[in-house]
Amino acid sequence: MIQIDLTGQVAVVTGGSSGIGLAAAELFLRAGASVAICGRDAERLARAERDLRERFPQAQLLAARCDVLDAAEVAAFAAEVQARFGRTDMLVNNAGQGRVSTFADTTDEAWREELDLKYFSIIRPTRAFLPMLRSSAKLGNAAIVCVNSLLALQPEPHMVATSSARAGVLSLIKSLAGEFAPDPIRVNSILIGIVESGQWRRRYETQAAPGQSWQDWTSELARKKHIPLGRFGRPEEAAQALFYLATSLSSYTTGSHIDVSGGVARHV
Ligand code: NDP
Repeated sequence: MIQIDLTGQVAVVTGGSSGIGLAAAELFLRAGASVAICGRDAERLARAERDLRERFPQAQLLAARCDVLDAAEVAAFAAEVQARFGRTDMLVNNAGQGRVSTFADTTDEAWREELDLKYFSIIRPTRAFLPMLRSSAKLGNAAIVCVNSLLALQPEPHMVATSSARAGVLSLIKSLAGEFAPDPIRVNSILIGIVESGQWRRRYETQAAPGQSWQDWTSELARKKHIPLGRFGRPEEAAQALFYLATSLSSYTTGSHIDVSGGVARHV
């Protein structure tokens, strides 16, 4: 991997207590950045913090409990980052999860919840961290990267609300990129297919046949879902794309996205 020194820079990763977010936090720490992560579950957050501190004893790390859908909590998280580190150079909007439901079984309330999650998990942190990102833009690199899904371009009927929200979010990201370009704050996303993570572990626990190993269950699913590379992605593979888009390695890229789906995208 290309080495880049992020000493002095600050990366904020929402949903950094598990899966892709945790893998991204690790990459930023490895490159010397100060890192702030957040999540709702205090125990999961404490576990992630302990784990990162064990592996990076010198880490400048802040782990804060915060629900990205709660405006007051997000504002408090941003204030904590400002007080502790004094700046934010890279914001990774990662917190969230998908919703498996068809049109027939998605209630109005479920539609609202899903649209709320997908939009406001970007809108609230972006609004709260924008003043710090604007200041960092004057010093060099300032970037927002959102974790989006290939469903934005290739909707699936069994995830109708998530697919629809993901497409809207792709448009939102393009608009933000245009609005923030003069600062300049770059805004990009990654479009992921299936990545091994907390939410898939939870599905494995409820859906796998008795005695079926994680390896067998994921391989069977990869086959069923026609993933050309034949396996789920790993959190660090998504994190590496996030890292590229967050740092000056991608200094001339904005309003764009990277496909991290193992070849599932069918469009040219
Ligand atoms: P994980 O469940 O492993 O991680 C999700 C993280 O987000 C956790 O840290 C979780 O902590 C946090 N989180 C969820 N909701 C909130 C919230 N409202 N406020 C703050 N933190 C929150 O899953 P992934 O790593 O897979 O998920 C990362 C992102 O990738 C998500 O947005 C997901 O939708 C997206 N994605 C993942 C795919 C995959 O195959 N893995 C496919 C497509 C998209 P806590 O629950 O404690 O709050």
